[in-house]
Amino acid sequence: MFKTLIEPFRIKTVEPIRRTTPDERRAALAAAGNNVFLLKAEDVLIDLLTDSGTGAMSAAQWGALLQGDESYAGSRSYFRFEEAVRNITHRKHIIPTHQGRAAERILFGSILKPGDLVPNNTHFDTTRANVEVMGATALDLVIAEGKVPSLIHPFKGNLDLARLERVLSEDGHKVPLVMVTVTNNSGGGQPVSLENIRGISALCKKFDKPLFIDACRFAENAWFIKQREPGQSERTPLEIAQEMFSLAQGATMSAKKDGLANIGGFLALDRDDWAEQCRNLLILTEGFPTYGGLAGYDLEAIAQGLKEVVDEDYLRYRIRVTEYVGEALTKVGVPILLPTGGHAVYLDARAFLPHVPPLEYPGIAIINALYLDGGVRGVEIGTVMFGQKPDGSEAPAAMDLVRLAIPRRVYTQSHMDYVVEAVAHVYAQREKLRGWRMVHRPKALRHFTATFEPMT
Ligand SMILES: *Cc1c(COP(=O)(O)O)cnc(C)c1O
Repeated sequence: MFKTLIEPFRIKTVEPIRRTTPDERRAALAAAGNNVFLLKAEDVLIDLLTDSGTGAMSAAQWGALLQGDESYAGSRSYFRFEEAVRNITHRKHIIPTHQGRAAERILFGSILKPGDLVPNNTHFDTTRANVEVMGATALDLVIAEGKVPSLIHPFKGNLDLARLERVLSEDGHKVPLVMVTVTNNSGGGQPVSLENIRGISALCKKFDKPLFIDACRFAENAWFIKQREPGQSERTPLEIAQEMFSLAQGATMSAKKDGLANIGGFLALDRDDWAEQCRNLLILTEGFPTYGGLAGYDLEAIAQGLKEVVDEDYLRYRIRVTEYVGEALTKVGVPILLPTGGHAVYLDARAFLPHVPPLEYPGIAIINALYLDGGVRGVEIGTVMFGQKPDGSEAPAAMDLVRLAIPRRVYTQSHMDYVVEAVAHVYAQREKLRGWRMVHRPKALRHFTATFEPMT
C-alpha cells in the first residue's frame, strides 16, 4: 500500500559520529600513507570499509550475552551455538573459530598440500591467501557474465560448470575439495542460484569430491534465490538456505557477516578424519573445540544472530538498501556493478576513471577522493587487492572495483542519501583525479598495509 520501505527496527542506543574538516581529513590521510585502512576510525564520518563485524546487534543478542556460559569445556553456550549452526547446515561436526579466515586456515592447513588445486566461483582475499600459503592454487571459475560489471544477470556469482567439469576430469587428482562462495563477495556480492549449486554438487558427486560452501552471506544469497529463481518465491529463506547446505559436505563461515555478530565464525563438515585433523590444529592455535577462540557470550550472540538473519522483513530491508543506493547512483550516471549485490554497492573504477590505467590504481583514486571530499570510507577491490601474483609480479586484476559495504542495521536512509551525494560529487570532479604509486609493497594481503603517493 505504501512504497517507502522502512528500517524494520527502532533505535535503542546511539553512537555519535564525528564531522571533520577537509584540512583534518587531508592530514589524516597523509598520516595514513594514503591508505584508508590505516586511518583512525574516529576520523571517518560514514564507514563503508566493510560489512564484517560492523553490524548492530539486537536487544535479544545483547540479552543473550548475559546468558554466556564461560566454562572452558562443554559450555551451554557452545551447545546453543552448535544447534543454531546445525539447524541451518545439517553438518555432523561444528567447529567454532574466532572468524572466517581461521576456519579457512584450519581447513586448508589440515587437508591441502603443495600442487593442489581449489576451484571456487571467486576466492575471497583471505581464502585465496590461505590456499596459496599451503603451496596450492586457487582457481576462480565464475561465469563469464560475472566479470562484466555492466551486464545484468540474476546470478552473476554462478560457477562455470563446464570449466569445473574440465578441471575435475583433467586435474581431478589435484583437487581435494571444491568451494562455492555465497554470495560472491569479490565478484560484487552477486548471488549463486540454487540450480547452479545443484549442478556443482552433481559434478562433485560424479568426481567424488566434497563441496564446501563459503557461507558468509548465506541468508542474503537465499533471499536473492527467493526473489529471482523460478519456483522459489513461496519458500522461506531458511528453507532455501537449508537446501543450499544439503547440497554440500562442509562450510566455512564468518559470523561477522550473516551471523549478525561482531566476531566469530565456524567450520562445519561431515568427514570424521578431516574433522579430527582440524580439531587438532584448532586446539593448537584457537582453543578447545567447544569455544574455538570465542567467549561463551560470543557463541550466544551468533546463535541468536543466525535466527534473526533469516527473517524476511530483515532481508527485504537489507537487500533493498543496496538496491536503493545503486538506483540513486545510476540515476546520476555513476558506473556501478549491475545489478547491485547483497552487502555492498560496487563502483566500476575503470569506467569511472578511464584515464587512470589499472596499474595506477583507479580504485584507490576514487577511495581517497571520497574520503577527502565526504569523509566516507570504502575499499578497493581490484589491482591492489588481487594484482600481486605468487611470484611477486603484478598484473591488472579482472576488474577494478570500489566497494561501499553497508554494515547491517547501522545506518539509516539519510546516511545512504549522504553517501550518494558524496559519490556524485567525486564523479563530477573525476577528470581531475590522478593515479597513485604504491610505495610500501607488502608481500601478502598488501591492500591492508601498503602506502601510496600521488602520481605527478
Ligand atoms: C569476510 C569473508 C571471509 C573471511 O572472514 P573473516 O571473518 O574476515 O576472517 C571469507 N570469505 C568471504 C566471502 C568473506 O566475505
